Amino acid sequence: MAGILSVIKLREAGYTDVAVYEKSDRVGGTWRENTYPGLSCDVPSHLYSYSFALAPQWTRRFSPGPEIQSYFERVADERGVLPHVRFGDAVTSCRFIGGRWHVTTQSGRHDEADVVIAATGVLHRPRYPDIEGLEEFRGASFHSARWDHSVALEGRRLGVVGTGSTAIQIVSAVVDRVSHLSLFQRTAQWVMPAENPPISAEQRAAYAADPESLRTHRQELSDLFDVFANAVVDVRSNELAWIEQACLENLEENVKDPVLREKLRPTYRAACKRLIMSPNFYDAIQRPHAEVVTDPIERVEADGVRTADGRLHELDVLVLATGFRADAFMRPMEIVGRDGVTLEEAWTPRPVAYLSISIPGFPNFFMLNGPNGPVGNFSLIEVAELQVGYILQLIERLRSGACEEISADREVLARFEEERAVAARNTVWVTGCKSWYLDDRGLPAVWPWSFVRFREEMAAPDPAAYQFV
Ligand SMILES: Cc1cc2nc3c(=O)[nH]c(=O)nc-3n(C[C@H](O)[C@H](O)[C@H](O)COP(=O)(O)OP(=O)(O)OC[C@H]3O[C@@H](n4cnc5c(N)ncnc54)[C@H](O)[C@@H]3O)c2cc1C
Repeated sequence: MAGILSVIKLREAGYTDVAVYEKSDRVGGTWRENTYPGLSCDVPSHLYSYSFALAPQWTRRFSPGPEIQSYFERVADERGVLPHVRFGDAVTSCRFIGGRWHVTTQSGRHDEADVVIAATGVLHRPRYPDIEGLEEFRGASFHSARWDHSVALEGRRLGVVGTGSTAIQIVSAVVDRVSHLSLFQRTAQWVMPAENPPISAEQRAAYAADPESLRTHRQELSDLFDVFANAVVDVRSNELAWIEQACLENLEENVKDPVLREKLRPTYRAACKRLIMSPNFYDAIQRPHAEVVTDPIERVEADGVRTADGRLHELDVLVLATGFRADAFMRPMEIVGRDGVTLEEAWTPRPVAYLSISIPGFPNFFMLNGPNGPVGNFSLIEVAELQVGYILQLIERLRSGACEEISADREVLARFEEERAVAARNTVWVTGCKSWYLDDRGLPAVWPWSFVRFREEMAAPDPAAYQFV
């Protein structure tokens, strides 16, 4: 998503010497790698589209993963992105030497670049759980982002570890195919009842005939999701109270069995963890052959999962829907900035970047969806588009000859981080849940202000925040 976007915007701005390095053999990133049953966007598709490539053909409010993958492939193809991409070669290192970035790839290729944009994704490196005995399991076991489509589910006993958005989508999609489903839950989740109606052929034709109506629709969705973005950064807001009420009603009204209802009732505030959007998870988990297992997993054995109460849950297939290493960012690439300082050194004890885009001492190196940026239940495409617009303004200073090197000022970043830590105290993420948003100090590693403020910051770089050489 972010790499395709960068090429399109760089070319529009007149840059022709643009190379994208993609370790895989196709574009798509997240949507190429995640192929599990039930995968869909949890942001409406008309919002999860590039603003300059709105698509009248989305078939559902929250489109399925393969449709999103086709969308990115189509945009990349139609906009002439593909000739810029070097497929099948991973970047292993970027070193800033003599005012230029020296980029080395796995195949031994060596290129030089004036500017590097890292668009390597946030939710990219699967996180495997540390469960004893996983390798002893006799059935099939895989991470949700490495779905093994050769494994049949029909009539088999399935175990799913995890209760994030992915696990919930998988359970809802496959429950009627398996003979028994065990959902191993460490933490209950709030579930927002988000209907996912099809978009009729007439409506799609109407959007195609009148692109302006599509733009208006996208704007309405964007305004609606601003409300969500503002709710999570203000624990006292009416919007958050509304979200909490909707989730609570969903649980109270749609889970009939009181024992199951209590198992599924979270003990923290809604949206503290990434909110689950689902029209049918509660239906799925109430099937007679579905079970929520809350006893902690002790170990995996040849025949299934043994929980702390001593019970063996016999399984044929075990899916690890245990998420991603959200702090991996550009790792394991070796990135070396000015004076030989490595990214690992600059990011000890934790990843930081000014406005999530620029790191002091790493000139002409910019990130899309870098550390501490806006993440949550809204479109990361919108975020990346704003970031690209901002980065282009910085690069323009290089092109015009106004300077040769640009990187964030160290003191400005330190002040920014202090301010961020203070603002974080007002967010829902610190109200007492464990989530992948939290860093080693328990502070959310995300944008803690409103989306309006993000838009304002991205409108134009503040020259006082940068070191220009
Ligand atoms: C299951 C799932 C559902 C999601 N749902 C939503 C949603 O509903 N709404 C939303 O806004 N976001 C969602 N996201 C977040 C999603 O990741 C982003 O929306 C978006 O796709 C990220 O795009 P990206 O280009 O930044 O990163 P990615 O899609 O991760 O792409 C990064 C690319 O960089 C390549 N790469 C990485 N390192 C190297 C290297 N060293 N050398 C060469 N190539 C490299 C990778 O192969 C990959 O193709 C979801 C994520 C997941 C995992």
